[in-house]
Amino acid sequence: MSFLHVDLNSFYASCAVVESGGAYNFDTPLMVCGDPKRRHGIVLAATYPVKRTGVRAGMPIWEALARCPNAVLVAPDFRLYMRYSDSFMRIVRRYSPLIMRYGIDEAYLDYNGCERIFGSAKDTADRIRERVKKELGLTVSVGVGDNMLMAKMGSDYKKPDAVTEINASNWQEYIWPLPVQSLMYVGKATAGKLRSIGVHTVGELALSSAVLLKEVFGICGQTLWKNANGIDDTRILPGAEPQKGVSKSITLSHNASTLPEICSALLMQTEDVAYRLRALKMRAGVVGIHFRYPDMSGEGRQVSLATPTFVTAELYESVKTLAGVLFRGRPVRQVGVRVAKLSCEPEQMPLFPSEAHERRLRLDCATDKLRDRYGADVLKRAGTLCFEHDEIDEFSPFVRV
Ligand SMILES: [Mg+2]
Repeated sequence: MSFLHVDLNSFYASCAVVESGGAYNFDTPLMVCGDPKRRHGIVLAATYPVKRTGVRAGMPIWEALARCPNAVLVAPDFRLYMRYSDSFMRIVRRYSPLIMRYGIDEAYLDYNGCERIFGSAKDTADRIRERVKKELGLTVSVGVGDNMLMAKMGSDYKKPDAVTEINASNWQEYIWPLPVQSLMYVGKATAGKLRSIGVHTVGELALSSAVLLKEVFGICGQTLWKNANGIDDTRILPGAEPQKGVSKSITLSHNASTLPEICSALLMQTEDVAYRLRALKMRAGVVGIHFRYPDMSGEGRQVSLATPTFVTAELYESVKTLAGVLFRGRPVRQVGVRVAKLSCEPEQMPLFPSEAHERRLRLDCATDKLRDRYGADVLKRAGTLCFEHDEIDEFSPFVRV
């Protein structure tokens, strides 16, 4: 069995470097982040010179600047990332009929049977690495493994611009000395719990009692033990859709306390989410909204749609209804829109073709084209102009479930 995991290195920051037309290079300390003048902006991505100072994605801008004061700050440009991501996926797709797009900057390839056509998995990994560099100017790290887990651990093992083979014979040597957090699905909380039972490295996890792990972590304990031992039977299914959802949220420049103001911010988020859906050629069957309050507590609502859609106005109808239900006069600090249950089946012929639907779809297609050509700000819906909310700080193009 052989699988590849290809991961674009510091994706957003690298796109900014490539697009700068020589003004920056990969040695420039550069951070992609929200507007630092507004509150609570965070770092979304950074080049390696910045990362070496200890800056991580998700860190507040002020903290990052304290560590790396000379960093260049660049605003995010999602449409740009989407274009690069699509080109990246097109390259990857040439080397296997079974690929899984994972988020915006990663893909898995099931390479079984492809050796006869393209040569060894290692050679293909190098070819993909070279092509992405030559055609897009971006670097990738690639993992080649006996299963998807090993491939993923391989692409994490050495960055940037590298290929690492991980298989049953070097798993213990390469992976066991790593801290448990380097294993997939081991977050901070799980790592803390593991430390409390004396498990610090992947090797210690692999050698600990499966029974004890099950007692502490329930059914997940078994998966943890299996993964530490390099066991993973996940497969990419033909036609399986890895994209589970798209979401977008925004922290408002001031707390919003009226429904029209909140709806205007939600409309902006809906436009962006819908644009991404159309770029992915996927329709959403579920739409949800989320509020975060000044005390950082939050709540949300979601609804299933009778007909899956990627039309902005149709998604926004549900968003508006949900906002009316969720808003009870309490000031809101952050709003988000999320869509899920994505499907890429072609649109079903409606029983009664709706003229309104056709019109809205044509409008979306026309505005997408204009925005692709002239930038996101070339057109704005009147509903988004009444209030000023211009900080993008929580940028989660894809929800990884
Ligand atoms: Mg990446």
